[in-house]
Amino acid sequence: MITELQLPPTQHYIEGAWRASADGGVFDVENPATGAPLATLSAGTATDVDAAVRAARDAFERGPWSQMSGADRGRLLWRLADLVERDREILATLEASDVGRPYVESFMFEIPLVADTFRHFAGWADKVTGTTFGLPPFAGQERFSYTLRQPLGVVGAITPWNAPTMILAWKLAPALAVGNTVVVKPAELASLTTLYIAALVAEAGFPPGVVNVVTGSGQVAGEALVRHAEVDKISFTGSTAVGRHIAAVAGEQLKKVTLELGGKSPQIIRGDADLNAALPVIATAVFANQGQTCASGSRILVHRSRVGAVAQGLADIAQSAVVGDPFDEGTTMGSLISSAQLDRVLGYVERGLAEGAHLVTGGRRIGTTGYFVEPTVFVGDNDLTIAREEIFGPVGTIIPFDDDEEALRLANDTEYGLTAVLWTGDASAVTRFTRQLKTGSVWVNAWGPPHPALPWSGQRASGIGEELGMAGLLANTIEKTVNLVSRG
Ligand code: NAP
Ligand code: MG
Repeated sequence: MITELQLPPTQHYIEGAWRASADGGVFDVENPATGAPLATLSAGTATDVDAAVRAARDAFERGPWSQMSGADRGRLLWRLADLVERDREILATLEASDVGRPYVESFMFEIPLVADTFRHFAGWADKVTGTTFGLPPFAGQERFSYTLRQPLGVVGAITPWNAPTMILAWKLAPALAVGNTVVVKPAELASLTTLYIAALVAEAGFPPGVVNVVTGSGQVAGEALVRHAEVDKISFTGSTAVGRHIAAVAGEQLKKVTLELGGKSPQIIRGDADLNAALPVIATAVFANQGQTCASGSRILVHRSRVGAVAQGLADIAQSAVVGDPFDEGTTMGSLISSAQLDRVLGYVERGLAEGAHLVTGGRRIGTTGYFVEPTVFVGDNDLTIAREEIFGPVGTIIPFDDDEEALRLANDTEYGLTAVLWTGDASAVTRFTRQLKTGSVWVNAWGPPHPALPWSGQRASGIGEELGMAGLLANTIEKTVNLVSRG
């Protein structure tokens, strides 16, 4: 059920309290589907980021959090998951209003995944341990060597606007489970659910300073967080361009980073694919969240014998999509996030046409209120700009191939390496393709969001390091080696 919009507090959340920016700065946010103003939030500066980082440092070094057992941290995370579940409708309403995506997508998939992520990592909180080693004596003395798994300290989390609540949980849950403290800088375009979760963090009983949120722009608040000397790690999800910049700054400072960046992921549809079953999912992989998905399968590589059928099938689905009010029950696609994003997407459509791609369906803005565009399908080749650059909109390009070798070559012919989808009934093809695709993950005959138990990572220009899974958990720790050598 859709609830009334319930806004969270609109200030920074620092040391367990809501605080305005030190210089009083604010910014307005709108509902992209209607253009209506939603809220006025605090525009954080380096001063606010510094206050948040100090609070996080203090909580890490001295507060009750620093003495808390893993079991107790797990209990707090579990409580947070319960509160997310209790407020599922409120969070889905907030997210649909802030992002413009269909309410049902948030309610059915994203918010439950947020609760699942907190629960998954709650279970790890008392199970992260070091290792002991049986080594020969050292300089004639008995030795005992072991490792300690310890939290890093203060983690700076910078999140994008496309799936803001889920990605917040991806960063908070593992960092907190192992005992770090966190300062979050959400995207200006979608900060509301992060502020709401901060209120739930307080309600769950996390000690002050363990989770802090500073809203504001990437260039001011984000940059200050990345550069702050007391931040031990930056966990960033966003564009490859900003990721490269953060990696450069972190490189100078030798700060740890995890970077989850853009993608231009292939879907490979072999000649033997069961198209009836596949087509709705192929379409979802392109159009879900209005195509504003890092894992969007926007390069649709199709065996030449099936190009006509796939183009027709996707056109039918695109033309029957219900694009409009995110809160209408029948809506399957909502609004793009902003007018800039609308211009970007329409610009790519023009570029596709100018470069000679064949437009199968879509390509136009719908209406003049909100930022709605038609789901769009092209047929073209892999050298087109629309096949090389991440559009982050509901635009897919069908690219024909003649055999598996060509399909694999095209799939890997991209600077990105986030995910891939393979549509086939042939087990030996599955083995071959999955081994050779240069991506962090592969879906076979399906597509969906990452599961918190599974590592999620981008290869090449799609990122550095892992998020989620055990690898993502341990990326929030150091493993310290201890050598005890007996004297006597
Ligand atoms: P973005 O422009 O890179 O922004 C991401 C975050 O970084 C925002 O909070 C932004 O703040 C902040 N930021 C911008 N400049 C910064 C700087 N100089 N220093 C520190 N922070 C800075 O990306 P977006 O447009 O929000 O999100 C879309 C992108 O995210 C796409 O490329 C998508 O593929 C990628 N993504 C990847 C994954 C994954 O798991 N690999 C998942 C989701 C999305 P402001 O926007 O408030 O200025
Ligand atoms: Mg918004």
